[in-house]
Amino acid sequence: MQLIIQNLNKTYSNGVQALKDVNLTINQGMFGLLGPNGAGKSSLMRTIATLQEADSGSIQLGDIDVLTEKDEVRKILGYLPQEFGVYPKIDALTLLDHLAVLKGIRNKSERKGLVEALLHKTNLWQARTKNLGGFSGGMKQRFGIAQALIANPKLIIVDEPTAGLDPAERNRFLNLLSEIGENTIVILSTHIVEDVKELCTDMAIINKGQVLYKGSPMDAIADVEGKVWKKRITKPELEKYRKSFNIISERLIAGRPEITVLNEGQPDSSFDRTDADLEDVYFTHIFGNSKKEEVA
Ligand code: ADP
Repeated sequence: MQLIIQNLNKTYSNGVQALKDVNLTINQGMFGLLGPNGAGKSSLMRTIATLQEADSGSIQLGDIDVLTEKDEVRKILGYLPQEFGVYPKIDALTLLDHLAVLKGIRNKSERKGLVEALLHKTNLWQARTKNLGGFSGGMKQRFGIAQALIANPKLIIVDEPTAGLDPAERNRFLNLLSEIGENTIVILSTHIVEDVKELCTDMAIINKGQVLYKGSPMDAIADVEGKVWKKRITKPELEKYRKSFNIISERLIAGRPEITVLNEGQPDSSFDRTDADLEDVYFTHIFGNSKKEEVA
């Protein structure tokens, strides 16, 4: 099954064009949708998840026309929204069982088996009788995955799932995502480059509603390999370098700026070549010729 998005456009009533002629073909496996806050990721995710309308364009999921056959999509969709609210005074086992009923799993013993398996899979078995209000951020997100997996979805959408998780919780969550079936399309929307680098075989970079790159992370890195140069400078030199070089990122190391420049050859003999990584690709597409992080 493939998800094919063609010429998708969306402008909100306040005039913000959140999606501009988006074209993407998404295959089974982990797909990363990478972009900064406000890029249009949630707008795209919500449209695919049948929660909002597009102005124009089409989305095809296998034989299903996503924009018109919403019920058909919902039967095979698992969705973890950006803000996943839980009922704080219900325990995980009870809520998951209830959600399974709503998803149409009426047979009690079938449901029991499924709910227990999902709690084990998401490593929440020990916490199954705890109220969800007492769950950590990571536990809530894992519960979110458990509910998204009810009814064996063919399309799973997770919107910014690792934002706000501490490193250990984030790892646990990403490992869980990577275990999800191979016969499934999993779309991971995130502003965190590492999430995509670690998990996704295919990706797109989006900004201001537009798709700026699509392909594999490896090909994306290969595109800039050999063109990424670094140099440690002093703060007063920063302005001069910003004017003269194509800086794709700036960061402080022990209080001193290090600039990363994208250039076909060595900018000058004071620069050292460095292995390209996905972050360089991301900054190149998002920021182009301008500076990245403010070095105050
Ligand atoms: P992301 O998920 O990448 O952060 P969003 O899709 O949430 O991006 O937002 C894309 C743009 O659309 C932003 O400028 C945002 O402010 C705007 N936007 C999102 N939702 C709405 C809405 N319901 N009404 C008006 N503007 C919106």
